[in-house]
Amino acid sequence: MDAWIRRYGVRYFSELTNLALLTEEVGELARVMARRYGDQSFKAGEADNLDEELADVLWVLLCIANQTGVDLTQAFDRTLEKKTRRDSTRHLNNPKL
Ligand SMILES: [Mg+2]
Repeated sequence: MDAWIRRYGVRYFSELTNLALLTEEVGELARVMARRYGDQSFKAGEADNLDEELADVLWVLLCIANQTGVDLTQAFDRTLEKKTRRDSTRHLNNPKL
């Protein structure tokens, strides 16, 4: 992905621009989710493209991680450890689940 940015994108958009784009993409994801699982219906010409919108969110998120020097693999591993430590019985004991 980093190679793609450097070859076709020239450079990363600024961090703040990418934050705005992430917000935009999350909004597009929310629109699809609202239509697919919520009470709204797709308008004529709209696509049920959940996979594409999830990938769009991931793309921008990876851009932000790359340009800010965050190793997302390591960070994700730490998050998984944290959630396991904190929530190892929480959900198992939730009668709503
Ligand atoms: Mg999108």
